[in-house]
Amino acid sequence: MDPIRIAVVGMGKIARDQHLPALDGTEAFRLTATVSPHDPGQESIAHHRNLEDLLATGPAIDAVALCTPPQVRYDLAALALDHGLHVFLEKPPGATLSEVVALSDRAEAVGATLFAAWHSRFAAGVAPARVWLAARRIEKVSIVWREDVRVWHPGQDWIWEPGGLGVFDPGINALSILTHILPRPVFLKAATLSLPENRAAPIAADLDLCDAAGAPIHMDLDWRQTGPQSWDIIVDTDAGTLRLSKGGADLTLPAGTRHDGDVEYPSLYAHFARLIRGRRSDVDTAPLRLVADAFLRGRRESVEPFHD
Ligand code: NAP
Repeated sequence: MDPIRIAVVGMGKIARDQHLPALDGTEAFRLTATVSPHDPGQESIAHHRNLEDLLATGPAIDAVALCTPPQVRYDLAALALDHGLHVFLEKPPGATLSEVVALSDRAEAVGATLFAAWHSRFAAGVAPARVWLAARRIEKVSIVWREDVRVWHPGQDWIWEPGGLGVFDPGINALSILTHILPRPVFLKAATLSLPENRAAPIAADLDLCDAAGAPIHMDLDWRQTGPQSWDIIVDTDAGTLRLSKGGADLTLPAGTRHDGDVEYPSLYAHFARLIRGRRSDVDTAPLRLVADAFLRGRRESVEPFHD
């Protein structure tokens, strides 16, 4: 089978850290072009300053991976779909829910694949956690997602702007795991969002949620963490405690711990290839809905200004 010719759009941190190595390691795709306004591009790969130029004058492609900030993703995705291209959306899949629904409808209309990728769902511990929890009664969930924004997002101004999500940019990864491993839907009950006086997006958030059977779920999100970082989900059940740590990479069950390494992006691209070959899409908005609910229903408090 011929490899799927793909262009990576938005040559920032995640494109370089994960997308390029994952594409290098798969025969299902061939990196055919890159697009970014200020990047010099890769040696021997076509490079364009914007997607319009690539589509007008670049090599033929079958798919795009959109690794830009979410605020500009809709226009790029709509343009790509209108050219019949398959589209991989980095998380979060859009700046608003309406955009993502519109893209999903458009993909169906043109017969292209749309993949709203939630990379944390592909962390090694997540699939076995989902299987283990399917047969358990959930009693309580605790999520602690605390990291140092200066280490992980230096100089990323878009993340503090409306649509950039602030601390929910990493927090939505936890919600993507939560909504995947719990057998029942999750609802937001209350939230407090802490916004620095000089920023438009929260630096911390405290969320009270529950599942459809009423099990309480607490989420502690904070970008001001220095020292050890935490990306943990702890689920108390009638059969003991499940713990996902390191963002879902490590799974601890009453029987012991599994560490299966970093498999997220190779697994994401394997899934994208299967979707394309099977003429299917995969667009789950549940994590983005919960973030939108937190912005809808959350109480805002002003905290000290944040400077890089
Ligand atoms: P980033 O380092 O700021 O990179 C974003 C890139 O998008 C920049 O290189 C920028 O190009 C490019 N860009 C902006 N507007 C564009 C447009 N209209 N057309 C083409 N390229 C455009 O951000 P990032 O950390 O990689 O994050 C990007 C997305 O991936 C976010 O949604 C984020 O949530 C997600 N993500 C990030 C990580 C992570 O660890 N950083 C992990 C998983 C997912 P120029 O610099 O050339 O202007």
